[in-house]
Amino acid sequence: MNLPQPDDYINIHTHNSIPASGIFAVETLMAHEKMQPDNLEGRTYTAGIHPWYLNKNNHQELLEFIYQTAGNENLIAIGETGFDKLRGPSMELQRSAFEEQVIIAGMHRKAVVIHCVKAWDELLASHRNLKPETSWLVHGFRGKKELASQLLSRGMYISLWFDFVMRPESAELIRFLPGERIFLETDGADVDIRDI
Ligand SMILES: [Zn+2]
Repeated sequence: MNLPQPDDYINIHTHNSIPASGIFAVETLMAHEKMQPDNLEGRTYTAGIHPWYLNKNNHQELLEFIYQTAGNENLIAIGETGFDKLRGPSMELQRSAFEEQVIIAGMHRKAVVIHCVKAWDELLASHRNLKPETSWLVHGFRGKKELASQLLSRGMYISLWFDFVMRPESAELIRFLPGERIFLETDGADVDIRDI
């Protein structure tokens, strides 16, 4: 497994990034794209079923992809996966796909990268029910202090997207978050993690 060098900037969640020295970037494989890990040439990545691209017909097939990839050495987490109330299939289907992936992550001792839009109750309920033994990282967080506190109290990590980081009104939240529990990410945006 690749590990960041002491001086590396860490970009914890990105899509189709170009490798650069001094940056440790974690690529994201989306199960529905069926891109094979071999194409990543030894880079560190996560793989998951994004709720936007999940449906009843592809559910089993996507899950099969996760079963096949989860044990790979360069895969450090399952995800992004989770809940989205604005886009994607029913909450029942999102929940079952999510929880199945959390169980696979536990079997392989891998973390989980979370996509969550307006479904924090569902996310927290799954965390309470499953009592996962590995860490969850909420990516693209742009919520309030109270929500951040709830996530932190359940041992979760929080990753911030550049747009949120740059907003003056985010400063108070960022100062409140414990440094050892936050990450930064570029996600799908064409920005440099070093600037963030
Ligand atoms: Zn993403």
